[in-house]
Amino acid sequence: MCAICDGHARNPITCIVPPHMLEVLAIRGSKKTAAMARSLLDQTRKVRHERAEFRTGRAMLEEAGAMGGFVSTALSRAATQSNLDRAIHDGEGKAGLPGKLLRKEGDPASGDAAVDEAYDGAGNVYRLYFEAFSRDSLDGNGMKLVQTVHHRRNYNNAFWNGEQMVYGDGDGEIFQKFTELSVIGHEMSHGVVQFSGGLLYEGQSGALNESFADVFGALTVQRKLGLEAHETDWLVGKGILGPDIRGVALRSMKAPGTAYSDALLGQDPQPYHMDFFVNTTGDSGGVHINSGVPNHAFYLFAQYLGGKAWEKPGTIWYQTMQRLNNPVATFAQWAAQTVEVAIGLHGAGSLEVLFLKRAWKLVGLPV
Ligand SMILES: [Zn+2]
Repeated sequence: MCAICDGHARNPITCIVPPHMLEVLAIRGSKKTAAMARSLLDQTRKVRHERAEFRTGRAMLEEAGAMGGFVSTALSRAATQSNLDRAIHDGEGKAGLPGKLLRKEGDPASGDAAVDEAYDGAGNVYRLYFEAFSRDSLDGNGMKLVQTVHHRRNYNNAFWNGEQMVYGDGDGEIFQKFTELSVIGHEMSHGVVQFSGGLLYEGQSGALNESFADVFGALTVQRKLGLEAHETDWLVGKGILGPDIRGVALRSMKAPGTAYSDALLGQDPQPYHMDFFVNTTGDSGGVHINSGVPNHAFYLFAQYLGGKAWEKPGTIWYQTMQRLNNPVATFAQWAAQTVEVAIGLHGAGSLEVLFLKRAWKLVGLPV
């Protein structure tokens, strides 16, 4: 959820900028910045209410129970044919979605940087899932990738609303335009979570949802650039902070808690270990905060193993999402499932399993 947690876990509009950052700006910002933050918190709250009922993890659980199974489309068959189909719309600074269609699949570059970044970025994310995990789009069934750029005026956020991706241009001071590849990968991966059985957007399962989105956002960048685990910076939202903000990104998987340290924004609050787990009722139970713990476990595992992180580590995390069968999973349950998947793929005595267990142990989640 983008806005302040109001006790409703339904309609999870999953945003890249966490509410704790906006709340700080609403209190500490200049008159103009505080007004922007308040209006953004209000807008995002309104977006939630405008939306049709959203299938939450719990609703999916009930539905799946009624259907007698939880196997996702993607898990039941591997995609062999690419059905990449993108549609990029121009929001024209307004709130309506999806806005005016500016570039559809196969069209040449539009000349609008945000449109073309969203088009290319969605292609990179699609190819990561299709080529590395045989998944055909977010739903595993060739779903059209609809994106809107230039959403509202000076809009300081990007989100997945359950049906499409939406990006603001930022106000140019605190945030710049949001069509950055790790952000695109993050938002689209919320779609993958949703169509893979879901993770309730609250508490630890919500933080796992956020972490999955961060991991696959980072993997999209690494795969596009052909970088191995030790060659990459493991930052999410790099370059979207404005020129006057002291920080490099929204989050760091390598060193959670160090992405920014700014007079206005304060200190990045992410923990890297369960000892520093943040118990809070804000941010849907700290979904954007405690995601630092599973994020760091993935980083450690990829680093121990070396090589391309989207290959073995990415496959284990992806398959864990497909097999989890538990929308209210805790960190410990997720960790145990990754180990089970790794044993199935590489064998109980393998280096992969040894390194994976070591990574979980180092963040305070021994399996
Ligand atoms: Zn998110």
